[in-house]
Amino acid sequence: MDCLFCNIINKKHDAHVIFEDDSHIVIMDKYPIQKGHSLVIPKIHHEKIIDMTNEEVGALFSKVPDVARGIIAATGADGFNLGQNNGRSANQIIPHVHVHIIPRYQKVGNPWARRMIATDGDLKELAKKIRDNIKSS
Ligand SMILES: [Zn+2]
Repeated sequence: MDCLFCNIINKKHDAHVIFEDDSHIVIMDKYPIQKGHSLVIPKIHHEKIIDMTNEEVGALFSKVPDVARGIIAATGADGFNLGQNNGRSANQIIPHVHVHIIPRYQKVGNPWARRMIATDGDLKELAKKIRDNIKSS
């Protein structure tokens, strides 16, 4: 099975990694809804959240606050949305469970539908800044 996120986890595909431990990896979204949009991904492949055990789901979401604090510190975001899509009809593009952390900026508003295309240079710089701001609690 060829899965983009498994390939990223196995270092067969590049990504801008902002956090990694034994069980999870966090990367910058290549097509951000807003600056700093990141994805928290469990290393074990499951397609949907309903394929996971409750413990695995708990472990996945327990990574979110530290990363979100890092993103806020690095970007100056005023808030953030969490998104977790399951199935094509729900806009799940990559069939490997992930949680979106989408920073929000008062001055920008909330254009859900519009995405940017980030350059590698921008993502690399911002990924480093967020990495430097992630502290384990
Ligand atoms: Zn996968």
